Parts: sequence; structure tokens; C-alpha cells
Amino acid sequence: MSRPVPNPGILDIAPYTPGKSPVAEPGRKVFKLSANETPFGPSPKAIAAYKDVAGHLEDYPEGSSRVLREAIGRAFGLDPDRIICGAGSDEILNLLAHTYLDHGDEAISTTHGFLVYPIATLANGAKNVVAPETDFTADVDAILKAVSPRTKLVWLANPNNPTGTYLPFDEIKRLRAGLPSNVLLVLDAAYCDYVSRNDYEMGIELVATTENTVMTHTFSKIHGLAALRVGWMFGPPHIVDAVSRIRGPFNVSTPAMLAAVAAIEDTAHQQMSKTHTEKWRNWLTEQITSLGLKVTPSVANFVLIHFPLEKGRTAAEADAFLTKRGLVLRGLNNYGLPHALRMTIGTEEANRLVVDGLRDFLAGK
Ligand SMILES: *Cc1c(COP(=O)(O)O)cnc(C)c1O
Repeated sequence: MSRPVPNPGILDIAPYTPGKSPVAEPGRKVFKLSANETPFGPSPKAIAAYKDVAGHLEDYPEGSSRVLREAIGRAFGLDPDRIICGAGSDEILNLLAHTYLDHGDEAISTTHGFLVYPIATLANGAKNVVAPETDFTADVDAILKAVSPRTKLVWLANPNNPTGTYLPFDEIKRLRAGLPSNVLLVLDAAYCDYVSRNDYEMGIELVATTENTVMTHTFSKIHGLAALRVGWMFGPPHIVDAVSRIRGPFNVSTPAMLAAVAAIEDTAHQQMSKTHTEKWRNWLTEQITSLGLKVTPSVANFVLIHFPLEKGRTAAEADAFLTKRGLVLRGLNNYGLPHALRMTIGTEEANRLVVDGLRDFLAGK
């Protein structure tokens, strides 16, 4: 008997395996350091805006997210007509793939790129082409070498998750210049707010000066609104026009929209979080390195910690050891990094407990 058959590519997607539910020893406080969420929560003004909407849940949202596009426009100096908001940047990434990828096409991502990219590629019947990285960092020459006549799109998170590394603006410009003009370059700037390097640019300049580059950003990280699902993209008018045609008419809810407006206007909250992250990123990198583990230099709100292969000292064993203490890091088997753990930078208390935990783990306690 025949039955419905999924489109080609769908069954090639590795099914999502949720992280194990952490079970800490009784009496341990649990610190979730596995999803790059802020330890500070959102701005109190965002929470207030969210609660204010509760009396009007019967009304559909304003469909174009106008007030949010205007607030983003003010914050970054952008034309609101060139912004599209979405239910998380996940939705935006999927809309881009749906708009530009088809059967027989290829999209390039890097070895340890964000997992949403291959999923969005395969979901549209296209082939995911992986460009190797150098030192856990995207390699412009390797990406350019992976280009074929079938390439339609290049995915690049800058900074990248889960590695925490970034490409300077000169390299991004070199990438763009080397790609065929019909290839869409998607710059995912989810972690740009945490970067303080003067050779970094989040992508705005390239989007503003080319016809084939978009940048995406999210309210899930520094703004602490991951539960609400809000993201956005900035792109050339012809791309905004095409993507808008398949966007759901009410894809961002009113509470999400208004909380995001309040969040982006609270620059003091963002600055506090950035300062904290930078201080503890340096501290963690130094401390963990001095324990004899390798830490990939990060510019984001997490660090990638590499473990030895010898029994008793592996990443999987460290993960189990820390979990018992209520310290939940992220194992990276499905990112091709079985010997590393990713740790989101947490509160001072959490950060100190992780370093103490790693010290005890390595001492065989
Ligand atoms: C967290 C993250 C996002 C944000 O996704 P949302 O759907 O907006 O929550 C986007 N890209 C990368 C690389 C991320 O790590």
C-alpha cells in the first residue's frame, strides 16, 4: 500500500537528539551552562512590556513587526524597510533557505558550523557542502574552494557557535569578493554583541553595499529573550521582497515584539552583560588553561574546552562529573567535537564552581 513520502532530503536530516536531563546530586544547585543563555535574564523593562500585553491576547499582532523594525533601525542605524523579523533567527534562516535553495543546489557551511544550517539546506532538497576549518575557525580559502556551479548560498556564523572564533571584516570582504555574485552570503551575527575587537564588523556594511549578502541577528542571547523566539535579518530590498512573500503574516507575536523593543532600548542592561561576559571569559580562559586543558580563544559568551583522550580525563567523563555537581555544560558529539565541551559563561558563582570542578576532575577526586 502506498503512503505519504517525505520530500527528498528530509530523511537525510539527522533526527534531533535532545540533551540529557541533568541529574545533580541532591542538594546541588543546578547551573544550566549548555545553551548560551544569559545568566541575567532579560531587561526588567522587557518583562514589564511582556506583562502589559496580557490584557489583549485576543488581538492578532501587527503583521510587519513595524515597531520592532523601527526600534532595530534606531539601534543600528538601519532602514526599517530592509529588516524582516522572525520567530527566532531560526525562522529567518529557514525562510532564506526556502527562498533560495532547491533540488540540485549546494549550500556551503563549515566543519563546526551551527547545526541549523545543514538542516535548513537539506530540508529544501539541496546538498550541504562542508568547508574545512583551520584552528576551529572558518577558512575563507577553503570556502571559496568548495564553490561549484551549483553553489547558491554560504552560511557563516560570525562569531561561530560552538567554536567561539570569528573572522575579521577584511576576511569577510575577501570572502564576498571571491564568491560568485549569484551566491547569497548569510552572515549570522547572533553573538556580535559580545565581540570587542576593532577588526570585527557584524555584517551591516557588506549588506548595505552589495546585492547578495544578508545578516541575521537574534534576541535570544544578550537580550535574554530566547523563550519568546525573536530574530531579524537586514538585507538588500530585492531579498527582503522575496523572503517577505513566504513569511507567515503574523510570525512574531505581540508579547515577543514589544518585549524585544524594550530590550533593545535598554542599552545599560546590554552593556552590563557584555562587560561581565568579557571579564569572565578572560578569567575562565586563563584558569582552565592553567589546569592544563586547551581553550579555543573565544569572542562570544561561551568557551570551547578541549579534553585529553586518555581514560579518566575525557570530555564525556568530565561532563558526567560536572553534571553531578549541578554544572551542565554542552557535549558536542553532534558537532563533530566529541573531545570538547562548550561552556556558556555564567554568573561568578557558576564560573568559579566549574573551574573548581574541573580541577577536582583532573585530580581524579
Ligand atoms: C543561538 C544562535 C542563534 C539564535 O537562534 P534563535 O532562533 O534566534 O534563538 C542563531 N545562530 C547561532 C549561531 C546561534 O548560536
